[in-house]
Amino acid sequence: GVPGKSVRYLLRERMPENIYELLKKAGELAETMGFHLFLVGGIVRDMVMRVNNLDVDLVVEGDGVVFARVLGNAFGAKVSPHEKYKTAVIRLPGGVRIDVATARLEYYRMPGAFPEVEESNLKLDLSRRDFTINTMAVALNPQRFGELIDYFGAQRDIREKKIRVLHSLSFVEDPSRILRAVRFEKRRGFSLGKQTISLVSSAVHAGFLRNIPGRRIFHEMRQILQEEDPIRCMDRLRELKVLEAIHPDLIFDEPMREAFHAVRETLLWFRLLYTREKVRVWFLYFLAMTESMDPQTVVALGDAFGLRREDAEILLSSREKVREIMRRMASLPDILPSQAVDILEKASLEEILYAMSRSKSASFKKIFSTYVTTWRNYRPPISGRDLLAIGFSGNRELGACLKEIRDRCLNGEIRDFAGALAFAQSRLAETRGERSPGEPPRV
Ligand code: ATP
Repeated sequence: GVPGKSVRYLLRERMPENIYELLKKAGELAETMGFHLFLVGGIVRDMVMRVNNLDVDLVVEGDGVVFARVLGNAFGAKVSPHEKYKTAVIRLPGGVRIDVATARLEYYRMPGAFPEVEESNLKLDLSRRDFTINTMAVALNPQRFGELIDYFGAQRDIREKKIRVLHSLSFVEDPSRILRAVRFEKRRGFSLGKQTISLVSSAVHAGFLRNIPGRRIFHEMRQILQEEDPIRCMDRLRELKVLEAIHPDLIFDEPMREAFHAVRETLLWFRLLYTREKVRVWFLYFLAMTESMDPQTVVALGDAFGLRREDAEILLSSREKVREIMRRMASLPDILPSQAVDILEKASLEEILYAMSRSKSASFKKIFSTYVTTWRNYRPPISGRDLLAIGFSGNRELGACLKEIRDRCLNGEIRDFAGALAFAQSRLAETRGERSPGEPPRV
């Protein structure tokens, strides 16, 4: 075909040095093996849009697994092959992940094969993708390095900010693409193409969402809940009647929307402080989604999402834990730091953040925020070993004394090691005093 324009400068500009070098090296290796190698999918889309994305997706015309082994070897990386699908995941020591796929399974390049034939394998692979914007590829073999391949008008659709399917049966083929369409639409001001909207409507109306395993829907829903702005996605899903098609009780009504907003606020706050700490964002939104459902409905929704019963139980138990936290906090007139720690220390970060989002009063919010920023990592100035050294035996008394010291430290009654030591010594004297003379020390 006609050679595409070169986006070599974009690769240089957008990719970190190490990835750029890796792509070049990968192209050279592919060449020596007689394979054609392409960078494809979301990373190309995002590169063209000048958005950062480090998920490297490669397609090999040849044998993807053999290629992945060679590439992995060259970079001292771990390779996890999937022989059946001829795919592999390469994990580089620095944490970069590379997905390798094979353009056509039965294809092996013969010496002297026609380039047109080879190229059609890539085209076939790309033609199975969800939306035009995801169908671009960049050639990586040395002679073509940096050539942009765009068979389906992706550049035009990116310019027009349109999400378009490749053919009219796309949502019939895979209804989970309906959720993907909304997810991509609500990023960076895109909108669904006119034709694509009507295809969504027909597919939803025809009940196609019921034709795929719930798990697939759950997977896509979880991705939506991890997006920058899940609320806009949910509004759109509601508008397109997708939510009720998933489950009749899944209604994005005003209370659910408010719960989502509260989660979002809390997460924005958390992210400002902790940019790196992992938090399962989708789980918080999932708690918000099921907040006012009764337990049977939660289980039914779990079924619609193909969750195992245990997972639905986990969700319900988290919900219960959050409620217990709220009850206990509300039952105390004033909450000492040590009491807050007692209430919160067994909860997961997600449960704490969710409870924080649910709390209306500023004073409760303050307690949650201080817990997250300070108390959850608090270590008292004295250790069990120190207590052993002054004569405690390793038993319940030691544990109780440590806990008491921690509480008093948190509440500001003990300030430092010396204070803690003095307190421990007085406790020790008391426990010794309780024993009658001549009684051997308890072990
Ligand atoms: P993100 O920026 O969210 O990572 P992505 O485009 O990388 O977006 P993935 O869900 O990781 O999205 O999918 C990787 C690629 O696989 C996409 O570019 C898409 O073309 C293709 N793909 C994923 N799911 C489907 C599907 N259901 N139908 C067709 N193609 C799909």
